[in-house]
Amino acid sequence: MEEALIIAAVVVVVGGGGGAGLVALLRSRRSSSPDGAPDAPAGGTGTTVLEPPAAGTATAPATITPPAPVTEPAAPQAPPLERPLPSAGRLARLRGRLARSQSAFGSVLLSLLSGSALDDQAWEDIEDTLITADMGVAPAQQLVEQLRTEVKVTGTRDPAEVKALLRADLLVQLGPDLDRTLHTTRHGNHPAVVLVVGVNGTGKTTAVGRLARALIGDGQTVVLGAADTFRAAAADQLQTWGDRVGAETVRSDREGADPASVAFSAVSEGIERGVDTVIVDTAGRLHTKTGLMDELGKIKRVIEKQVPVDEVLLVLDATTGQNGLRQARVFAEVTDITGIILTKLDGTAKGGIVIAVQRELGVPVKLVGLGEGPDDLAPFDPEVFVDALLGD
Ligand code: GDP
Repeated sequence: MEEALIIAAVVVVVGGGGGAGLVALLRSRRSSSPDGAPDAPAGGTGTTVLEPPAAGTATAPATITPPAPVTEPAAPQAPPLERPLPSAGRLARLRGRLARSQSAFGSVLLSLLSGSALDDQAWEDIEDTLITADMGVAPAQQLVEQLRTEVKVTGTRDPAEVKALLRADLLVQLGPDLDRTLHTTRHGNHPAVVLVVGVNGTGKTTAVGRLARALIGDGQTVVLGAADTFRAAAADQLQTWGDRVGAETVRSDREGADPASVAFSAVSEGIERGVDTVIVDTAGRLHTKTGLMDELGKIKRVIEKQVPVDEVLLVLDATTGQNGLRQARVFAEVTDITGIILTKLDGTAKGGIVIAVQRELGVPVKLVGLGEGPDDLAPFDPEVFVDALLGD
């Protein structure tokens, strides 16, 4: 049976130009007895052994009152580890969650197939619908232009053919050939390191926890770094995610501790334990651009004293529209983003944001959040996404 161990107070010094600092770290992990049995109490029998009397006291009165039996405090029982689902096929499984976006894109299809002539006004309405779905003005114009030409050239009004044209054009806008590989595989004899950035409230910590689950579901081993040290609750939240699936969480016991020190320690721990991936959660305060740049820059520099950072994933809330795009721009200016995690796509009719954000940042959406459940984070697949939008 497994029990939780808390190992406290490992002191780590981060040296050099990254800014030295002392951080008392709490590491949580589970351990189990080799035979799966609870550890035996001292003495091995669970009973108290009376010591013989000390020399010179042998003649002491023979009546010895045995002490009351000592009961070992019951060790807290950790719930059994969960076995997360593998990540493959998740988007197809969760496609129903895109229903609100599907109605937006479904109405485009309906307009294309309506009995009336596709005049200028009809094409304008289609363009407006795409813009309302947050696709972005330029991509919406391009798509309409393309479709308009194709419908004219082919002269088709056959529903299946029109749908196929729309599908192909949407796919082009989504960049079917963008490399969406998540670089989370151990390489060069050390773990891959993933830094997760974004504004608080976007679902960042949840995304880190769910990414860890997905990787563990795929058979990897993971260490989490709680470098969002500005909210004590963030470290607790992350540790809860980690504990559920057996990923160790490296955190500070002090609110406001140096995030770079925690990140450094998480990576050290990942190297020491020989895990596949270290995922570092960072603080997402909306503060000055210079402050953000300094903070993320320092975290990255300090990690890279040990190993390279393989992925910098930006978490964006799909429901925040233009505001989200503005945030994305700021993050892209201060750090090299390698991929986007678009959360809360289940709560919006604005699925077109996938296109807009990729266009804005020039980096692919790699993962999408489609609900609040632990396994509701899916690798993004443009074809499955388009099919879901068009109700195929
Ligand atoms: P953080 O402040 O960015 O770390 O945000 P949290 O991870 O604490 O998440 C904020 C809220 O968003 C929580 O209630 C999450 O359950 C919720 N959330 C995160 N991702 C998704 C998603 O994909 N869909 C929905 N519906 N809710 C989400």
